[in-house]
Amino acid sequence: MHYFDLKDGVLHAEGVNLETLAAEVGTPTYVYSAATLRRHYGLMREACDAHKGALGDALIAFAVKANSNISVLKVLGQLGCGADTVSEGEIRRALKAGIPASKIIFSGVGKTDAELAFAIREGVRQINVESSTELERLIAVAASMDAKPDIAIRVNPKIGAGGHAKITTGGAGDKFGVPVEEAMDLYAVASRSAHVNPVGLACHIGSQITDLTPLESAFKVLRQMTETLREQGMSVTRLDLGGGLGVPYYGETNTPPPSAYIAMVAGVLEGLGVEAAFEPGRLMAANAGILLSRVVHMNERTDGRRFLVLDAAMNDLMRPALYDAFHDIKPVRPKGGEAIPHDVVGPVCETGDTFARDRNLTPLQAGDLVAFMSAGAYGAVMSGEYNTRPLAAEVLADGDKWAVIRPRPTYDEMFAREPIADWL
Ligand SMILES: *Cc1c(COP(=O)(O)O)cnc(C)c1O
Repeated sequence: MHYFDLKDGVLHAEGVNLETLAAEVGTPTYVYSAATLRRHYGLMREACDAHKGALGDALIAFAVKANSNISVLKVLGQLGCGADTVSEGEIRRALKAGIPASKIIFSGVGKTDAELAFAIREGVRQINVESSTELERLIAVAASMDAKPDIAIRVNPKIGAGGHAKITTGGAGDKFGVPVEEAMDLYAVASRSAHVNPVGLACHIGSQITDLTPLESAFKVLRQMTETLREQGMSVTRLDLGGGLGVPYYGETNTPPPSAYIAMVAGVLEGLGVEAAFEPGRLMAANAGILLSRVVHMNERTDGRRFLVLDAAMNDLMRPALYDAFHDIKPVRPKGGEAIPHDVVGPVCETGDTFARDRNLTPLQAGDLVAFMSAGAYGAVMSGEYNTRPLAAEVLADGDKWAVIRPRPTYDEMFAREPIADWL
Protein backbone atom coordinates (compact mmCIF):
# COMPACT_ATOMS: atom_id res chain seq x y z
CA MET A 1 0.00 0.00 0.00
CA HIS A 2 1.41 3.39 -0.98
CA TYR A 3 0.45 6.87 -2.11
CA PHE A 4 1.91 6.95 -5.63
CA ASP A 5 -1.11 7.12 -7.93
CA LEU A 6 -2.22 8.48 -11.29
CA LYS A 7 -4.15 11.75 -11.20
CA ASP A 8 -5.29 13.39 -14.43
CA GLY A 9 -3.15 10.90 -16.33
CA VAL A 10 0.09 11.71 -14.47
CA LEU A 11 1.77 9.78 -11.67
CA HIS A 12 1.74 11.73 -8.39
CA ALA A 13 3.49 11.29 -5.07
CA GLU A 14 0.55 12.11 -2.80
CA GLY A 15 -0.54 15.54 -4.13
CA VAL A 16 2.73 16.22 -5.95
CA ASN A 17 2.83 15.97 -9.76
CA LEU A 18 5.98 14.05 -10.68
CA GLU A 19 6.31 15.72 -14.11
CA THR A 20 6.38 19.14 -12.48
CA LEU A 21 8.77 17.88 -9.84
CA ALA A 22 11.16 16.40 -12.41
CA ALA A 23 11.15 19.68 -14.33
CA GLU A 24 12.16 21.57 -11.18
CA VAL A 25 14.59 19.15 -9.51
CA GLY A 26 15.87 17.16 -12.48
CA THR A 27 16.44 13.43 -12.65
CA PRO A 28 17.38 10.90 -11.37
CA THR A 29 15.59 11.75 -8.12
CA TYR A 30 14.29 9.65 -5.27
CA VAL A 31 10.84 10.72 -4.10
CA TYR A 32 9.45 9.56 -0.76
CA SER A 33 5.89 9.70 0.52
CA ALA A 34 5.52 10.79 4.14
CA ALA A 35 1.95 9.44 4.28
CA THR A 36 3.18 5.99 3.26
CA LEU A 37 5.88 6.00 5.95
CA ARG A 38 3.28 7.08 8.52
CA ARG A 39 0.87 4.42 7.37
CA HIS A 40 3.47 1.65 7.66
CA TYR A 41 4.53 2.73 11.13
CA GLY A 42 0.85 3.03 12.10
CA LEU A 43 0.10 -0.52 10.98
CA MET A 44 3.01 -1.89 13.04
CA ARG A 45 2.09 0.26 16.05
CA GLU A 46 -1.56 -0.75 15.92
CA ALA A 47 -0.67 -4.44 15.65
CA CYS A 48 1.76 -4.20 18.59
CA ASP A 49 -0.74 -2.31 20.73
CA ALA A 50 -3.35 -4.98 20.04
CA HIS A 51 -0.99 -7.53 21.65
CA LYS A 52 0.33 -5.57 24.63
CA GLY A 53 -0.23 -8.56 26.89
CA ALA A 54 2.31 -10.66 25.00
CA LEU A 55 4.66 -7.95 23.70
CA GLY A 56 4.69 -5.39 26.50
CA ASP A 57 5.31 -1.80 25.48
CA ALA A 58 6.95 -2.88 22.21
CA LEU A 59 9.56 -0.68 20.58
CA ILE A 60 9.44 -0.30 16.82
CA ALA A 61 12.94 0.71 15.78
CA PHE A 62 13.29 1.56 12.09
CA ALA A 63 16.40 -0.04 10.56
CA VAL A 64 18.21 3.13 9.52
CA LYS A 65 20.36 1.34 6.96
CA ALA A 66 17.27 0.90 4.75
CA ASN A 67 16.85 4.66 4.34
CA SER A 68 18.95 7.01 6.41
CA ASN A 69 17.80 10.37 5.06
CA ILE A 70 17.38 12.63 8.10
CA SER A 71 13.95 13.91 7.00
CA VAL A 72 12.72 10.34 6.55
CA LEU A 73 13.97 9.51 10.05
CA LYS A 74 12.26 12.64 11.34
CA VAL A 75 8.88 11.66 9.87
CA LEU A 76 9.13 8.33 11.70
CA GLY A 77 10.69 9.75 14.87
CA GLN A 78 7.81 12.22 15.24
CA LEU A 79 5.45 9.25 15.48
CA GLY A 80 7.48 7.72 18.32
CA CYS A 81 9.50 5.35 16.19
CA GLY A 82 12.96 4.34 17.41
CA ALA A 83 16.04 3.46 15.35
CA ASP A 84 18.08 0.32 14.77
CA THR A 85 21.57 1.46 13.81
CA VAL A 86 24.74 -0.26 12.61
CA SER A 87 27.35 2.52 12.80
CA GLU A 88 28.24 5.69 14.67
CA GLY A 89 27.12 7.60 11.60
CA GLU A 90 23.64 6.09 11.76
CA ILE A 91 23.38 6.83 15.50
CA ARG A 92 24.32 10.44 14.74
CA ARG A 93 21.67 10.64 12.01
CA ALA A 94 18.97 9.23 14.30
CA LEU A 95 19.88 11.71 17.04
CA LYS A 96 19.93 14.56 14.53
CA ALA A 97 16.42 13.54 13.45
CA GLY A 98 15.28 13.93 17.05
CA ILE A 99 15.04 10.24 17.94
CA PRO A 100 16.03 9.98 21.60
CA ALA A 101 18.98 7.75 22.52
CA SER A 102 16.59 5.77 24.72
CA LYS A 103 14.99 4.45 21.52
CA ILE A 104 18.20 3.69 19.63
CA ILE A 105 19.52 0.13 19.32
CA PHE A 106 23.13 -0.36 18.19
CA SER A 107 23.61 -3.55 16.14
CA GLY A 108 26.33 -4.78 13.77
CA VAL A 109 29.15 -7.33 13.51
CA GLY A 110 32.06 -4.93 13.46
CA LYS A 111 31.55 -2.09 15.90
CA THR A 112 34.89 -0.44 16.67
CA ASP A 113 35.98 0.53 20.19
CA ALA A 114 35.44 4.18 19.25
CA GLU A 115 31.89 3.45 18.08
CA LEU A 116 31.11 1.46 21.24
CA ALA A 117 32.41 4.34 23.37
CA PHE A 118 30.29 6.80 21.39
CA ALA A 119 27.15 4.67 21.87
CA ILE A 120 27.81 4.37 25.61
CA ARG A 121 28.43 8.11 25.95
CA GLU A 122 25.16 8.89 24.14
CA GLY A 123 23.31 6.42 26.35
CA VAL A 124 21.68 4.30 23.65
CA ARG A 125 18.92 1.95 24.73
CA GLN A 126 20.84 -1.23 24.05
CA ILE A 127 23.95 -2.54 22.34
CA ASN A 128 23.43 -5.85 20.54
CA VAL A 129 26.59 -7.93 20.98
CA GLU A 130 27.43 -10.26 18.11
CA SER A 131 30.46 -12.24 19.33
CA SER A 132 32.48 -13.19 22.40
CA THR A 133 35.36 -10.99 21.25
CA GLU A 134 33.02 -8.05 20.88
CA LEU A 135 31.72 -8.66 24.40
CA GLU A 136 35.30 -8.61 25.73
CA ARG A 137 36.02 -5.36 23.93
CA LEU A 138 32.75 -3.80 25.04
CA ILE A 139 33.42 -4.70 28.68
CA ALA A 140 36.90 -3.14 28.42
CA VAL A 141 35.55 0.03 26.81
CA ALA A 142 32.72 0.33 29.36
CA ALA A 143 35.14 -0.27 32.24
CA SER A 144 37.40 2.51 30.99
CA MET A 145 34.38 4.83 31.08
CA ASP A 146 33.11 3.43 34.38
CA ALA A 147 29.83 2.63 32.59
CA LYS A 148 27.42 -0.30 32.49
CA PRO A 149 25.42 -0.28 29.25
CA ASP A 150 22.39 -2.48 28.65
CA ILE A 151 23.16 -5.18 26.12
CA ALA A 152 21.45 -7.99 24.26
CA ILE A 153 23.20 -11.01 22.81
CA ARG A 154 22.46 -11.51 19.12
CA VAL A 155 21.71 -15.16 18.57
CA ASN A 156 22.32 -16.99 15.30
CA PRO A 157 19.59 -19.63 15.43
CA LYS A 158 20.98 -21.42 12.36
CA ILE A 159 17.78 -20.57 10.51
CA GLY A 160 18.51 -18.41 7.50
CA ALA A 161 15.77 -16.90 5.38
CA GLY A 162 15.22 -14.20 2.86
CA GLY A 163 14.77 -13.28 -0.74
CA HIS A 164 18.43 -13.74 -1.80
CA ALA A 165 21.61 -15.45 -0.50
CA LYS A 166 23.26 -12.03 -0.05
CA ILE A 167 20.58 -10.85 2.38
CA THR A 168 20.28 -14.03 4.47
CA THR A 169 21.88 -13.47 7.87
CA GLY A 170 20.71 -16.23 10.19
CA GLY A 171 22.22 -19.26 8.46
CA ALA A 172 24.90 -21.37 10.18
CA GLY A 173 27.60 -20.08 7.82
CA ASP A 174 26.60 -16.40 8.02
CA LYS A 175 28.80 -13.92 9.89
CA PHE A 176 26.01 -12.66 12.15
CA GLY A 177 25.29 -13.52 15.75
CA VAL A 178 26.38 -16.17 18.21
CA PRO A 179 25.33 -19.86 17.99
CA VAL A 180 22.77 -20.84 20.64
CA GLU A 181 25.08 -22.76 23.03
CA GLU A 182 27.74 -20.08 22.92
CA ALA A 183 25.13 -17.36 23.38
CA MET A 184 23.98 -19.01 26.60
CA ASP A 185 27.57 -19.01 27.91
CA LEU A 186 28.07 -15.43 26.78
CA TYR A 187 24.92 -14.32 28.58
CA ALA A 188 26.28 -15.87 31.79
CA VAL A 189 29.65 -14.12 31.31
CA ALA A 190 27.85 -10.81 30.74
CA SER A 191 25.65 -11.35 33.81
CA ARG A 192 28.76 -11.62 36.00
CA SER A 193 30.36 -8.48 34.55
CA ALA A 194 30.30 -5.20 36.44
CA HIS A 195 30.40 -3.32 33.14
CA VAL A 196 27.55 -4.66 31.03
CA ASN A 197 23.95 -5.35 31.94
CA PRO A 198 22.42 -8.12 29.82
CA VAL A 199 18.73 -7.40 29.35
CA GLY A 200 17.85 -9.82 26.61
CA LEU A 201 18.40 -11.61 23.34
CA ALA A 202 18.22 -10.45 19.74
CA CYS A 203 18.00 -12.08 16.35
CA HIS A 204 17.61 -11.04 12.73
CA ILE A 205 17.67 -13.92 10.28
CA GLY A 206 17.40 -12.26 6.90
CA SER A 207 15.54 -9.83 4.70
CA GLN A 208 12.65 -9.93 2.22
CA ILE A 209 11.18 -12.92 4.09
CA THR A 210 7.72 -13.79 2.81
CA ASP A 211 7.09 -16.95 4.83
CA LEU A 212 6.49 -16.57 8.57
CA THR A 213 7.61 -20.15 9.33
CA PRO A 214 11.38 -19.58 9.62
CA LEU A 215 10.78 -16.43 11.68
CA GLU A 216 8.48 -18.33 14.01
CA SER A 217 11.07 -21.11 14.41
CA ALA A 218 13.75 -18.56 15.27
CA PHE A 219 11.53 -16.80 17.83
CA LYS A 220 10.73 -20.13 19.47
CA VAL A 221 14.48 -20.63 19.92
CA LEU A 222 14.65 -17.24 21.69
CA ARG A 223 11.75 -18.19 23.94
CA GLN A 224 13.37 -21.49 24.88
CA MET A 225 16.65 -19.71 25.62
CA THR A 226 14.86 -17.11 27.73
CA GLU A 227 13.23 -19.81 29.85
CA THR A 228 16.52 -21.69 30.31
CA LEU A 229 18.45 -18.53 31.24
CA ARG A 230 15.79 -17.66 33.79
CA GLU A 231 15.92 -21.18 35.26
CA GLN A 232 19.64 -20.55 35.72
CA GLY A 233 18.78 -17.43 37.71
CA MET A 234 19.44 -14.79 35.07
CA SER A 235 17.17 -11.92 34.15
CA VAL A 236 15.83 -11.62 30.59
CA THR A 237 13.39 -8.75 30.08
CA ARG A 238 13.66 -7.87 26.38
CA LEU A 239 13.56 -9.77 23.11
CA ASP A 240 14.67 -7.98 19.96
CA LEU A 241 13.13 -9.79 17.02
CA GLY A 242 14.92 -7.93 14.23
CA GLY A 243 13.40 -7.00 10.90
CA GLY A 244 13.21 -8.96 7.70
CA LEU A 245 9.55 -9.00 6.75
CA GLY A 246 9.19 -8.95 2.96
CA VAL A 247 7.22 -6.49 0.86
CA PRO A 248 5.48 -6.90 -2.50
CA TYR A 249 7.80 -5.87 -5.35
CA TYR A 250 5.89 -7.55 -8.21
CA GLY A 251 2.44 -6.85 -6.87
CA GLU A 252 2.74 -10.27 -5.12
CA THR A 253 -0.04 -11.05 -2.74
CA ASN A 254 1.80 -13.65 -0.64
CA THR A 255 3.59 -11.16 1.62
CA PRO A 256 2.20 -11.45 5.15
CA PRO A 257 0.66 -8.22 6.45
CA PRO A 258 2.26 -6.71 9.58
CA SER A 259 -0.83 -7.70 11.58
CA ALA A 260 -0.30 -11.42 10.78
CA TYR A 261 3.40 -11.16 11.58
CA ILE A 262 2.81 -9.44 14.94
CA ALA A 263 0.04 -11.91 15.81
CA MET A 264 2.48 -14.78 15.14
CA VAL A 265 5.10 -13.15 17.40
CA ALA A 266 2.50 -12.57 20.13
CA GLY A 267 1.57 -16.24 19.91
CA VAL A 268 5.19 -17.29 20.44
CA LEU A 269 5.84 -14.85 23.31
CA GLU A 270 2.48 -15.24 25.11
CA GLY A 271 2.95 -15.43 28.86
CA LEU A 272 6.72 -14.93 28.73
CA GLY A 273 6.58 -11.43 30.18
CA VAL A 274 9.17 -9.73 27.97
CA GLU A 275 9.18 -6.40 26.16
CA ALA A 276 9.51 -6.92 22.42
CA ALA A 277 11.43 -4.80 19.94
CA PHE A 278 11.07 -4.88 16.16
CA GLU A 279 13.54 -3.56 13.60
CA PRO A 280 11.66 -3.24 10.31
CA GLY A 281 13.56 -1.54 7.50
CA ARG A 282 12.25 -2.62 4.12
CA LEU A 283 8.70 -2.99 5.43
CA MET A 284 8.58 0.66 6.44
CA ALA A 285 10.44 2.31 3.58
CA ALA A 286 10.44 0.21 0.38
CA ASN A 287 7.01 1.11 -0.93
CA ALA A 288 7.31 4.64 0.45
CA GLY A 289 9.81 5.64 -2.24
CA ILE A 290 10.31 5.70 -6.00
CA LEU A 291 13.25 6.56 -8.22
CA LEU A 292 12.24 9.02 -10.90
CA SER A 293 14.26 8.80 -14.11
CA ARG A 294 14.12 10.16 -17.64
CA VAL A 295 14.56 8.24 -20.88
CA VAL A 296 17.80 9.31 -22.61
CA HIS A 297 16.92 7.38 -25.76
CA MET A 298 15.49 4.19 -27.16
CA ASN A 299 18.09 2.10 -28.94
CA GLU A 300 16.26 -0.32 -31.18
CA ARG A 301 18.91 -2.63 -32.60
CA THR A 302 18.69 -4.34 -35.96
CA ASP A 303 18.69 -7.74 -34.17
CA GLY A 304 15.38 -6.72 -32.60
CA ARG A 305 16.53 -6.00 -29.02
CA ARG A 306 15.13 -2.81 -27.64
CA PHE A 307 17.34 -1.01 -25.12
CA LEU A 308 15.61 1.66 -23.12
CA VAL A 309 18.50 3.84 -21.90
CA LEU A 310 17.70 5.85 -18.78
CA ASP A 311 19.50 8.64 -16.95
CA ALA A 312 19.44 6.51 -13.77
CA ALA A 313 22.06 3.82 -13.39
CA MET A 314 23.36 1.11 -11.09
CA ASN A 315 25.18 3.74 -9.03
CA ASP A 316 21.78 5.25 -8.16
CA LEU A 317 19.85 2.01 -7.60
CA MET A 318 22.11 -0.95 -7.04
CA ARG A 319 19.57 -3.62 -6.08
CA PRO A 320 19.04 -5.09 -9.57
CA ALA A 321 22.81 -5.37 -10.20
CA LEU A 322 23.57 -6.64 -6.69
CA TYR A 323 20.67 -8.99 -5.98
CA ASP A 324 18.93 -9.40 -9.34
CA ALA A 325 16.14 -7.49 -7.64
CA PHE A 326 12.90 -6.72 -9.45
CA HIS A 327 11.47 -3.18 -9.50
CA ASP A 328 8.25 -2.40 -11.26
CA ILE A 329 8.88 0.34 -13.85
CA LYS A 330 5.95 2.64 -14.53
CA PRO A 331 5.60 5.44 -17.05
CA VAL A 332 4.87 8.73 -15.27
CA ARG A 333 2.42 9.64 -18.08
CA PRO A 334 1.07 6.37 -19.48
CA LYS A 335 0.27 6.69 -23.17
CA GLY A 336 -1.17 3.26 -23.72
CA GLY A 337 -0.20 1.03 -26.62
CA GLU A 338 0.93 -2.56 -26.65
CA ALA A 339 3.44 -3.66 -24.01
CA ILE A 340 6.51 -5.13 -25.68
CA PRO A 341 9.82 -6.46 -24.28
CA HIS A 342 12.53 -3.92 -23.46
CA ASP A 343 15.93 -4.19 -21.83
CA VAL A 344 16.04 -1.31 -19.38
CA VAL A 345 19.58 -0.08 -18.82
CA GLY A 346 21.59 2.81 -17.41
CA PRO A 347 24.54 4.58 -18.99
CA VAL A 348 27.27 3.12 -16.75
CA CYS A 349 30.04 1.21 -18.52
CA GLU A 350 29.23 -2.23 -17.09
CA THR A 351 26.86 -4.91 -18.33
CA GLY A 352 25.68 -5.17 -14.71
CA ASP A 353 24.08 -1.77 -15.24
CA THR A 354 20.87 -3.44 -16.39
CA PHE A 355 17.67 -2.85 -14.45
CA ALA A 356 15.52 -5.34 -16.31
CA ARG A 357 15.70 -7.64 -19.31
CA ASP A 358 12.76 -8.39 -21.57
CA ARG A 359 10.47 -6.25 -19.46
CA ASN A 360 7.11 -5.65 -21.12
CA LEU A 361 6.59 -1.89 -21.33
CA THR A 362 4.35 0.29 -23.44
CA PRO A 363 6.33 2.41 -25.95
CA LEU A 364 8.50 5.16 -24.49
CA GLN A 365 10.66 7.77 -26.14
CA ALA A 366 13.46 10.17 -25.29
CA GLY A 367 12.37 12.65 -22.63
CA ASP A 368 9.63 10.47 -21.13
CA LEU A 369 9.71 9.91 -17.38
CA VAL A 370 9.56 6.56 -15.63
CA ALA A 371 9.32 5.60 -11.97
CA PHE A 372 11.07 2.64 -10.37
CA MET A 373 8.53 1.60 -7.78
CA SER A 374 9.36 0.31 -4.29
CA ALA A 375 12.76 1.99 -4.28
CA GLY A 376 12.50 3.62 -0.84
CA ALA A 377 14.55 0.96 0.96
CA TYR A 378 18.15 0.05 0.10
CA GLY A 379 18.01 2.55 -2.76
CA ALA A 380 19.54 5.97 -2.11
CA VAL A 381 21.52 4.62 0.85
CA MET A 382 23.52 2.34 -1.44
CA SER A 383 24.11 4.93 -4.14
CA GLY A 384 27.52 6.18 -5.15
CA GLU A 385 29.23 8.38 -7.71
CA TYR A 386 30.66 5.68 -9.99
CA ASN A 387 31.38 7.09 -13.46
CA THR A 388 31.46 10.54 -11.76
CA ARG A 389 27.71 10.65 -11.74
CA PRO A 390 26.38 13.07 -9.11
CA LEU A 391 24.35 11.41 -6.34
CA ALA A 392 20.63 11.38 -7.14
CA ALA A 393 18.60 14.06 -5.40
CA GLU A 394 16.09 13.06 -2.72
CA VAL A 395 12.67 14.69 -2.27
CA LEU A 396 10.01 14.25 0.40
CA ALA A 397 6.36 14.63 -0.60
CA ASP A 398 3.84 15.25 2.16
CA GLY A 399 0.32 15.99 0.94
CA ASP A 400 0.65 18.87 -1.52
CA LYS A 401 3.98 19.95 -0.02
CA TRP A 402 7.39 18.79 -1.15
CA ALA A 403 10.98 19.60 -0.31
CA VAL A 404 14.40 18.62 -1.55
CA ILE A 405 15.85 16.66 1.37
CA ARG A 406 19.18 15.95 -0.30
CA PRO A 407 20.17 18.14 -3.21
CA ARG A 408 22.07 16.73 -6.14
CA PRO A 409 25.67 17.89 -5.70
CA THR A 410 27.21 20.16 -8.31
CA TYR A 411 30.43 19.06 -10.00
CA ASP A 412 32.27 21.78 -8.10
CA GLU A 413 30.97 20.37 -4.81
CA MET A 414 32.03 16.89 -5.83
CA PHE A 415 35.54 17.98 -6.82
CA ALA A 416 35.97 20.17 -3.74
CA ARG A 417 36.06 16.93 -1.72
CA GLU A 418 39.29 15.94 -3.50
CA PRO A 419 42.17 18.24 -2.58
CA ILE A 420 44.96 17.82 -5.09
CA ALA A 421 48.27 16.72 -3.52
CA ASP A 422 50.32 19.88 -3.08
CA TRP A 423 53.42 18.55 -4.85
CA LEU A 424 51.57 17.88 -8.09
C1 LIG B 1 19.15 -4.96 8.02
C2 LIG B 1 18.71 -5.18 9.39
C3 LIG B 1 17.37 -4.96 9.75
C4 LIG B 1 16.31 -4.56 8.75
O1 LIG B 1 16.03 -5.55 7.83
P1 LIG B 1 14.78 -5.39 6.83
O2 LIG B 1 14.81 -6.62 6.01
O3 LIG B 1 15.03 -4.16 6.04
O4 LIG B 1 13.57 -5.28 7.66
C5 LIG B 1 17.01 -5.14 11.06
N1 LIG B 1 17.92 -5.52 12.00
C6 LIG B 1 19.21 -5.73 11.70
C7 LIG B 1 20.16 -6.13 12.77
C8 LIG B 1 19.66 -5.58 10.39
O5 LIG B 1 20.94 -5.79 10.09
